[in-house]
Amino acid sequence: MSEYIDFNSTIYPFPPKPAFLRKDEKKHCREKIKHLLKQQDAVMVAHYYTDPEIQALAEETGGCVADSLEMARFGSNHPASTLLVAGVRFMGETAKILNPEKRVLMPTLEAECSLDLGCPEKEFTEFCDNNPDRTVVVYANTSAAVKARADWVVTSSIAVELIDHLDSQGQKIIWAPDRHLGNYVRKQTVADILCWQGACIVHDEFKTQALIRMQGLHPDAAVLVHPESPQAVIDLADAVGSTSQLIKAAQSLPHQKLIVATDKGIFYKMQQTCPGKQLFEAPTAGEGASCRSCAHCPWMAMNGLQAIVQGLEQGGVQHEIFVKEELREKALIPLNRMLDFATRLK
Ligand code: SF4
Repeated sequence: MSEYIDFNSTIYPFPPKPAFLRKDEKKHCREKIKHLLKQQDAVMVAHYYTDPEIQALAEETGGCVADSLEMARFGSNHPASTLLVAGVRFMGETAKILNPEKRVLMPTLEAECSLDLGCPEKEFTEFCDNNPDRTVVVYANTSAAVKARADWVVTSSIAVELIDHLDSQGQKIIWAPDRHLGNYVRKQTVADILCWQGACIVHDEFKTQALIRMQGLHPDAAVLVHPESPQAVIDLADAVGSTSQLIKAAQSLPHQKLIVATDKGIFYKMQQTCPGKQLFEAPTAGEGASCRSCAHCPWMAMNGLQAIVQGLEQGGVQHEIFVKEELREKALIPLNRMLDFATRLK
């Protein structure tokens, strides 16, 4: 049996967009970042949802562009003593939990995630305490404190496999925080999942009817959908998966046209891996949608060039991630379980 907890949805204030930079200002910032990375023995670890110029800079400077699981692995394996994490705050925290000896800097600590914000530690702890017979599985998009309360951390790239594994052992699950991903995983595995009702403000905005109309305009296109999207959108997909899995699907599917329902930052990597294909953003501006809909995470967009310069130059409480040791040790346990499980899967 599966149950849902009702939670009121929350509207988050949108962060300011980075200031517009002229071409010469961008060039100046890029050169400065390259110099600072070398000077500080630092490497850039960027998420697929950051702006293309940030991803290009990470690649150019020997860093990585990846999903949150690969970002964590890369940061741990790289010899640099400082990690500059271009993403959102939980990614910086994860890097610090795994690498306490390294300095972890971020362009801004105000880069949040609606899934993390929508799953506060106190309420989540109560939720878990009220269901003590369930194994607690939390998505990587959560705070260190929520991870510390969990038995397992998971990313979307291995969510179905992990829940399938736990279900085969007869375990009942608490899943948090994304309701759409939890619902998707439940459908795939038929596991007994009690789901927290969080949502990603970007994926929650994809619109079914507008997507059907778009498919009508491009009947030869394949539809690629991230499972943080609503179930009705997932039902229209030719491929469903994490960011890395969608990039692979873009390459392997025979279609020359692809409609993509995830943050449009992913287009940078997709275009690199399949340059001949035509990519279309899945529609977010269906009936009832507002100008909030742009298929780009406003917090990921905060990772601008100037912010990276400031992060590297200033460090300190404005930019450096600190996690209390006691909390870090607790959060490390479910994170390591995930990494070991992912290694075994490979
Ligand atoms: S795209 Fe969604 S899940 Fe990813 S960081 Fe932004 S709000 Fe969070």
